[in-house]
Amino acid sequence: MSQPPVQNDVWVELYKGESLTLHSRLPLADLVYVGLLEEMGLSAKTLNYRVVAVNIADEQELTGEPELINVRHDFGHLIISGSQANGIPYKRWFPIRELLAPTVRKIAHELDPVEKLWGYCLASPVISQFPIARPVPVVQGTMEIHTGDTTQSRFRVKRSVEPTLPEFDLDELGREGKTLAGTGVILTEATHKLLSETLPLSDRMEVGGFLSGKAFRSSRPGAHLLLIQSVLPAQHAGASGMQFTFTGDSFREMNSKLDTMDGQRLLGWYHTHLFPATDQMGLSMTDVGLHFRTFQQPWQVAGLINYYGVRRVLRFYVRDGEEMSECPQWIIDDRGRYRNAGNALGA
Ligand SMILES: [Zn+2]
Repeated sequence: MSQPPVQNDVWVELYKGESLTLHSRLPLADLVYVGLLEEMGLSAKTLNYRVVAVNIADEQELTGEPELINVRHDFGHLIISGSQANGIPYKRWFPIRELLAPTVRKIAHELDPVEKLWGYCLASPVISQFPIARPVPVVQGTMEIHTGDTTQSRFRVKRSVEPTLPEFDLDELGREGKTLAGTGVILTEATHKLLSETLPLSDRMEVGGFLSGKAFRSSRPGAHLLLIQSVLPAQHAGASGMQFTFTGDSFREMNSKLDTMDGQRLLGWYHTHLFPATDQMGLSMTDVGLHFRTFQQPWQVAGLINYYGVRRVLRFYVRDGEEMSECPQWIIDDRGRYRNAGNALGA
């Protein structure tokens, strides 16, 4: 397996036990490559990239066993940049907790299955001038969107006894409606314009929020339709170039807003990615993990807004077994007629 070029003068150090004794040095290239494969799937294989270590701390907590702590806390991130085989540029910030820690933990566990505590950190001739230390415990009370699979969400949208959803006649959607199997998304003209054009977004930070409106079942078992009537940008959200964070306050505020919106219910969430959309690259593994843990209804969706040049590409995903699949989209006009919305990727 050929390795993409990676900056050679940064490596990862592994420290063992309470005494944080240096145990081994791991090649950064291998860890990044495995991390990107997890994150991006096949497209990582066709990516030529550079890796830059960033001395910005990552305040999010890593849970799971064995305990793994970043002992050079100030170096919490990597920037991966480069171009894919199709020429589309790629640039993304990753917390090393997300990109490297899962693999480091596996390696540590294989090295010594009994040891309960490990430290790890980025290292280089320059970085290693910073001392290693155990970080102070992180502040409780936030939930992160881009989070490792081992992390439990601290917030959950409460599952309540579901009244039967009203029925939607699939014939209204035309030919595509007749074959709908999972969840279809219907946007009003206003919500479509908002999400795909006018909603203020940042090109420096991932942002997101909640989607509300009405949910319908159809006569076909398992097929649902969501009419998205409102977009609720999350308040009190943590945002940065590499992750989007809902907090407990985001959920509380969303719930009190929903209470005032007659007949609307929570249909799901949305967030942005600061890199162009491709066919392969939709939700990340961590997005999928968050969705499964937080949104319990099988028909709730995750909206994703990618930049595609100056355009935005809007897609929605819904549970499909252990994975998530893209949903077909329609727009309903003011006279109640439906048209296919597509996602403009293939256009
Ligand atoms: Zn994401």
